[in-house]
Amino acid sequence: MTQTQDSIKHWGDMPPEEFHQHARSISAWIAEYLERIASEEPSRVPRVLPNVQPNFLQEKLPASPPMLGEKVEDILRDFENIIVPNTTQWNNPNFHAYFSISASSIGILAEFLIAALNNNSMVWKSGQAATELERLVLSWLAEALGLPRELWGMIFDTASVSTMQALACARERSGFHVRERGLAGRGGDVPQMRVYASELVHSSIDKACITLGLGAENCIKIPVNERLQMQTEALEQAIKRDKEAGYLPIVVVGVVGTTSAGSSDNIHELVAVCERESIWLHVDAAWAGPAAMLEEWRDRFHGWERADSIVINPHKWLFVPIDLSVLYCRTPEVLKEAFSLVPEYLKTTEDGQVENMMDYGIQLGRRFRSLKLWFVMRYFGVEGIKARLREHIALAQLFANLVNDHPDFECTAPVEFALVCFRYKPQHVANGDEVTLERINADLEERINTQGQIFLVHTKLHNVYTLRFAVGNLYTSEAHIRRAFDHILKNT
Ligand SMILES: *Cc1c(COP(=O)(O)O)cnc(C)c1O
Repeated sequence: MTQTQDSIKHWGDMPPEEFHQHARSISAWIAEYLERIASEEPSRVPRVLPNVQPNFLQEKLPASPPMLGEKVEDILRDFENIIVPNTTQWNNPNFHAYFSISASSIGILAEFLIAALNNNSMVWKSGQAATELERLVLSWLAEALGLPRELWGMIFDTASVSTMQALACARERSGFHVRERGLAGRGGDVPQMRVYASELVHSSIDKACITLGLGAENCIKIPVNERLQMQTEALEQAIKRDKEAGYLPIVVVGVVGTTSAGSSDNIHELVAVCERESIWLHVDAAWAGPAAMLEEWRDRFHGWERADSIVINPHKWLFVPIDLSVLYCRTPEVLKEAFSLVPEYLKTTEDGQVENMMDYGIQLGRRFRSLKLWFVMRYFGVEGIKARLREHIALAQLFANLVNDHPDFECTAPVEFALVCFRYKPQHVANGDEVTLERINADLEERINTQGQIFLVHTKLHNVYTLRFAVGNLYTSEAHIRRAFDHILKNT
């Protein structure tokens, strides 16, 4: 219902008393929503994947904006009736696609406060506590991860952007003054620069090459071994071949916890190659990074403290609401060389004594993201976080055991961290009939996702069509895992 002309003001914001009333009803709504998705009673839990067709929204909402302001109650009613049931529920414990994540309650509360302060920490003077809290909380995180406390870090929105920044650093360090002179039309005085990563690397690396003008074809994919790790020898050969042909190798990307399979490259071997060749080593631990807190998983990270840069996404497996990605970099001065540009209106009297975060990246404006990481680390504590990560890893192992104990299922890769790669392989299908196996697994995935009680996606490993089951939501329990496996069985 549209409000009448005289009931709305044409200036100013909602009165604070009215804000209080709506904030109460919204917090009640959120609590009820969380209570439902966390419910042990499956019939109370909403679908994780909605039953919705493309362009559904056009029929439900007006094409033009309201000319007069509307009531909060009406806006919220449409949110509840049109938005919520028609969007994928990432906070639902039955979400096992991509990487399963959680916006913890403490993180949700922090987001509320971040919006209220509306801080923009472009420079220290425009966000003093935000700038300094970012430094503090990233040294907390480094310490918890077993990295040096002094390791310099910076918060971005996503791993894609963090990685792009790291590659920009490496491009700057190559000494060809790309920042000033660009790459195009230089009459051959700049060699083609090359970036190396395993064939399982995330597409964000290719996108960084595209964005930075390095060219997607200069992102060289190195084959993996049977443990799905980059073959170090093949990497060394590719670098040698490229150097002989006149290319300039600038970056190797090593992954801890690949997106497809959770596998990890042999980081200490990559460190040795990169140190010998003076190549920038970027470690992509966007998802698995928090597991470095667990002593029993530290070997996967062995050597990463010697990498030039590391990316970790606390919005993936550290219970921080999306978005928050951390880039650690051993040489922030190179980031500064690549990006610092200070127009007159951004000069401040403190410039000599403080860190102005705008100097280290492409963005000027920045949200107060460190607040939510600080809240989350304080609320759970490092031990609390570790216990939860271990629980997710144990639940993934439980799922893998159910798969392995069933004659018609198999795991298609070693179980790493909290990710299980598996497939349906009924005994009646002949060994090696990959065409049939791909079809029945694709059909199974489609049937499951159409029903929407659980959500799964697939990948291909060595060309084998594979379903993925990721665990990482704070509400996921043993009962969810057992029900999920039964549900998959029922759909075969
Ligand atoms: C998810 C993921 C990314 C991309 O993360 P965004 O924050 O969505 O850009 C990159 N690398 C790995 C290994 C990932 O799992």
